[in-house]
Formats: sequence, C-alpha cells, structure tokens
Amino acid sequence: MTGKIYFIRKIVLTAQCLAFLFLIIIVGSANVSAQVNSAIEAKINALLKQMTLEEKVGQMAQVAIDVIGKTDYAKGTYILDQSKIDDVINNYKAGSILNTPGALLSASDWNQVINSINNAAQKNRLKIPVIYGLDHIHGVSYVGGGTLFPQPIAQAATWNRQLIFNAAVITAYESRAANVPWTFSPTLDLGSNPVWSRQWENFGEDPYLSSELGIQAVKGFQDPLGSKEKIAVSLKHYMAYSDPKSGNDRTDAWIPEHYLREYHLPPYTATVKAGARTVMVNSALINGVPTHINKHLLTDILKNELGFTGFVVTDWQDIENIYRRDKIARTYKEAVMLSINAGIDMAMIPFDYKGFCTDLIELVKEGKVSIDRINDAVKRILRVKYELDLFNTPVTNLSDYPKFGSPEFAKASYNTATESITLLKNKGDVLPIRPNSKVLVTGPNANTMRSLNGGWTYSWQGNRTDEYAAKYNTILEAVTNKLGKNNVTFEQGVVYNMQGRYFEDSIINIDAAIQAAANVDYILLCVGENSYTETPGNLVDLSLSDNQLALANALIKTGKPIILILNEGRPRIINRIEPGAAAIIDTYLPGNFGGDALADILTGDINPSGKLPITYPRYTNALTGYIHKTSEGLGNPQGGEFNPQFQFGFGLSYTTFAYSNLTINKQTFSPDETLTVSVTVKNTGNKDGKEVVQLFIDDLYASLAADVKRLRGFEKINLKAGESKTVEFKVPVKQLAFVNLNNKKQLEEGDFKIEVSNLNTTFKVNKTVVF
Ligand code: BGC
Repeated sequence: MTGKIYFIRKIVLTAQCLAFLFLIIIVGSANVSAQVNSAIEAKINALLKQMTLEEKVGQMAQVAIDVIGKTDYAKGTYILDQSKIDDVINNYKAGSILNTPGALLSASDWNQVINSINNAAQKNRLKIPVIYGLDHIHGVSYVGGGTLFPQPIAQAATWNRQLIFNAAVITAYESRAANVPWTFSPTLDLGSNPVWSRQWENFGEDPYLSSELGIQAVKGFQDPLGSKEKIAVSLKHYMAYSDPKSGNDRTDAWIPEHYLREYHLPPYTATVKAGARTVMVNSALINGVPTHINKHLLTDILKNELGFTGFVVTDWQDIENIYRRDKIARTYKEAVMLSINAGIDMAMIPFDYKGFCTDLIELVKEGKVSIDRINDAVKRILRVKYELDLFNTPVTNLSDYPKFGSPEFAKASYNTATESITLLKNKGDVLPIRPNSKVLVTGPNANTMRSLNGGWTYSWQGNRTDEYAAKYNTILEAVTNKLGKNNVTFEQGVVYNMQGRYFEDSIINIDAAIQAAANVDYILLCVGENSYTETPGNLVDLSLSDNQLALANALIKTGKPIILILNEGRPRIINRIEPGAAAIIDTYLPGNFGGDALADILTGDINPSGKLPITYPRYTNALTGYIHKTSEGLGNPQGGEFNPQFQFGFGLSYTTFAYSNLTINKQTFSPDETLTVSVTVKNTGNKDGKEVVQLFIDDLYASLAADVKRLRGFEKINLKAGESKTVEFKVPVKQLAFVNLNNKKQLEEGDFKIEVSNLNTTFKVNKTVVF
C-alpha cells in the first residue's frame, strides 16, 4: 500500500515536498518508517525516469551463474565467459545473478567473479549495479575458507537470541568479504511437518520462536544496511511451504487463510517489521494455487497489509513451473504475466533470460502487464540496491575483511554448537563419560563432516563436504582428540553410500562392532541421516533406516551403555531402540565444530543447554506437533494420548533447576493491558548451567477450538550452582488472540492458563474484541 501511496503522491509533489511526504508516511505506518528514506526515494524516481522499458525489465531478471561461465568440476575451477556476460549484463541488462557454479570458490575468487560482473554493469548507460545472491543459510555456505555455523534448526535449539544475531553478523561480514551483498536467508518456514525434507533449514515448529529468532537474524544480517559489513536478507519461502499435504517438497498444502494467518504468517510479519528487504516466494502451491501467482498473498497481504517495501523474488525457475509443472498457464509467457501481475518483482529465471525479458516486454506493450506494475517492481529493486549502497560501493575489497575465517568466528560457531546440542535422555546420569573410560565409536555418522553439516554446504546437496571440510573434526576425530587414541576404538558397522542417494546405507561390519564393544565402557552410536535438501531429500519412511536399527539392536544386546548420538535434519523415529539407549543426544546438524562441541559435552566440559525446537515424534503415524487441539491429544492408539518421543522445548542438563514463585501482576485483564509474569529459577545441582525458561499460555475456552498450549515467551539464563534468578515476561494481552474464520484477530473474554515448567496459574480477560 505504501509504495502505491507514495507513487500517486509523487506525481503531484515537487522535490522539495519529499521530506514532508516522508513525514506523512512515517505517521501513516510504523512498518514503513523503517523502510523508506526520502533521499533514496528521490534518487530512485530520478533514475526510473531515465530508464527504458528494456532496462526496467532487465532489472527484474535474475540469472544463474552457470549461464555466464563454465565450471571444470575435475579441476574445481570456474571461468567467466566474457561474451556471455556481455549478453546477460549489457544486452539484456540483468539486475541480478545468483548461485554457486558448483566448484567451491574462495573469498578472493568470489571477489573477482563479482567484480567482473559489476565491471560489465558499469559499462551500461545507467551503471546500475548488479545484486548478487547466495544461499548463506548457515554461514557462508558457498565460500571456501569461511565460517560455517550449525544449521538453523540447531541454532533454534540454542533458544538464545544473541547467538542467532551473532551468526548473522559474522555471515554478513564474510559474505561481504566475498563481495556478496545478499543472502537467501533466514528461512522462516515452520518446521511443522517432520516428513518434509527441509525441516532443518528453519527455526523449528513454533511461530513465536521462529519470529523471535528471525528478527535477530534480520537485524544481524542487515543493520545498518549500507554498511560494508551488512547484507540484505531474503525471508523465505513466503509462506506455508513447509506443510505440504503429501510431505513431499514443492507440493500442495491445504491450509485455510485463518490458519495461514495464525501460524505461518507471524514470522513474516515480525521480520518484515524488523526491516527485511527481500522476500522469496514459496515454490509450491497452497489450496491448488501456485504461490507465485497468488496476488492475495503477495500483494494484498505482504505488500499492502504488512507494508513490505522491499522486493519479492521468485524461487528457482518457479515462473516456468506455473506452466510446465502446474499446468495452469498454457505458455511460459502467460506464466510471466500471471506472476508479475500477482506481485513478483524479480524472477529467479534462472536460465532462459532471453525468453523472460522478451515475453515481459511484449506483455507490457500488449497492455497485459501495466507499466505501473513494472515501475513498482523496479523501484523496489532499486530501493534495495541504494539502501545497500551498491551504487557507490558495488564491490568490496577482501583486504578490508581481516576477520574472514578467523579463530574468533570459529569460536562463535563452536559456541553456537555447544548451546544447540540437546541431551534427551541420561539414565542414571550415565553422562558425562567418566575420566579414562574406553569408548567404541560406531555408526554411519561417526566419521564424516558431511552429515554434521547437511545440505547447503559447499554445494547444494552438501555431498562434497568431506573433501572441503577435511581440516575440521568428525565426531570420531573430536572424541579421539579428547579421550586419547588408546581409549577410542572405531568400527563403523553401517556406512552411507556417498555416491548414491542420501538415504542409501549398507552394513559393513556389525560383527566387528559387537566384538569391539566387549572391551569398552561406553558405545557412542552415531546414527541419523546423510546430507540432502529439497526434492532429492524426499522420504517415504521416517523411521531410522533398517541397517542403522540393526546395528543399534545388535549393540544393545552387548549390554554396554549406549550413548545414542542423533545427527539428522529431521527427527527419525527411534522408539524401537530408545529403551536400549542409556543416553540420547540430538546434535541436529551442528556444523564444522559440531564434533568438538559434542566431545566437550560428552566429557562434561560443557553442560548441555539445548532444547528441542520441534516435537520429536514417537511413531511414524503420529506426527502431531505440540501445537494441536484438545481432540488431537486424546486417545492416541499407543496409549498416552499426545505421546511424542520428546516434547517440543525439552532438553536435559547435567545440573537440575527448580522453579518457584510463579506470579502474575493481576487476576483480570482488559484487552489493551499487558501481563507481567515472573518466575524464580534456581540451579539446585552442583554444576553451573544454562536454562531456557519457557512461558506457555493456554486459552481454556474459545469459540474456535484453541490450541492446547502456545509459547508466548522464553529467556535463556545462566545460573551458577546454587544461584537463583527471577525472570520476568511481559505479554500484551492482545497477543493471545486467535485468528477467526473472517481472518480477523479475536480475543475472547474468559479464562487463560499460564504454564512455566511444572508451575501454573490462571487469569481472566474481561472483554471480547475483534481487530
Ligand atoms: C530453493 C531456495 C534457494 C534457491 C536459490 C531453490 O531451489 O528452494 O531455498 O534459495 O533455490 O538457490
């Protein structure tokens, strides 16, 4: 809406009035005040006036790096092709390039490649810089020598806002060192469907947790935009990509709008408000409509209602998908028309740039796409380029980034890994491992960097990580460093097929593992998944693989204490082996320092403090998450009603915490008031530790069945042995509203319950309001 208001007013206002206009916009919308700057708006308008239709359409085109050069996979090199650059950048005037060429480039290689692209752009009449985008979803995933962090699901398991912020700050710095001003991150799809192959790319299954961590990521990456150490984000994949009915990637979700607004929209609302500058669209469909042609979601809600003033980019080849995959458009040109008219500003084409540009120019000339729509799209793209200061500083110098790949950044990644790793079971305090113990390290995840990092690591599927991350420690290497060579035996038992599909594994020597177990005090059984992402990561059976279960069952029979180490992107079902494990640790995808962090937790040098950001299901047919209705929690066939293996928010420590004094400032609230809840937490054990204090609030009766419980606040605190702290939460009462069938927020009078750990109390809301 604000972009549109601005455009209409622009016509009647002189340049001197722009400052006044800015004031109006500030008064009109809090969101927008953070997002437009009058000096930049003046520059955009001046530039737009000079642009031809071809130049405008070029800005809307994003092309894959493969198109402008050649990769030699054997040599691991990428060479730009000047004639292709001339065509893409100078003839077609493409505004953006993306992706890795497949070979791993160093920061200095990237610097040169992006320099060359921008040198070509400088030859264009208007010298509009090119914006380069990469998927830096857990650190600089595509830059050799850079810092990789735990994947987002593991970052979320820290429940530590500061760590998410730090990771984004470092990733932005290292991206800029490599000359990359834009990342396709953070991913804000709710991890609500454990079958889906991308659950691990997100901050877990809860809208509030995702929103809070998403805000930190946006701030860490962007603020202040225009600094040479900052990059623009792309929130993705707007929205509800994560909950396909089939469980398979890029397939239809059946979700009514009030549920979209209740669960999937809030992380986008929060991060747009935090100033996110670009948004990438859900590659799939919702209710049969490809999101790329869903004007209601892209224009009415995202741009008008949320006041988003940045630009909307498609996902990979998704305009073509409207025609080839979904069979909605009969031609590619029709698909271009539908998507641009729906509100797409930039097309991640990524190959057929000639087709896209030619078709879009024709569509404008035929009156099927209005010039106003094109102007709006181009203004949004130019706005982000100006805000990034790319017009003045289109490229950076690597020498200005001395901290690239530094020990300081490695330490930050290690810290995040230590706070993410989640202790799920510790029978009889079997952990930490007693000093001078002997251990058997076994399982397919024991000695590979690939599974520690997951997909989007050096390559799309993360399948070359062992080659590129050889200098970091696998679990086996880290445990050996820690316990000493003489105390560690390695028999893998089961191996992944590193050349095959990610789910293929085979038994190599279970008998040898059993024999080795006879001489040790503990078995570290490292199981889970190999790396994958997107459609290649689809899965038909959430159980741990048959071969891994066979290894586990054979080792359980030895009677030695099993420490089950889970290293996986999504929760693979373990109910048949869980009773045989003395301890269980979920490492998720902890990154290059995950092995070291795990070893420090195993020995007790680090006290674990991670908590599940997802529900860990017990059965393949019982995938209900913690956000569910009362009816879904009743009568679970396997007994125990809502009975996951491990609850959302769960995680143990080597110390114990006691909660007391849960208080609330009043008993009855009117809708405009704010609840103040406080609780005291004491470390009652003899080790220092960190605890995540989680506040759940439940609407006890509502006209639309309420969720059994909802997270409304959390705080991670550090408590020395014996120490107590009081934590206070402030929750505006209106945040307890649900979205009604008319897609409005509705707060109903009545009783609510507060739950913090094992304590609870109630309060009342005295009035129903709809807003
Ligand atoms: C993925 C996106 C990614 C894009 C660019 C797509 O296939 O769905 O998450 O940002 O490719 O690499």
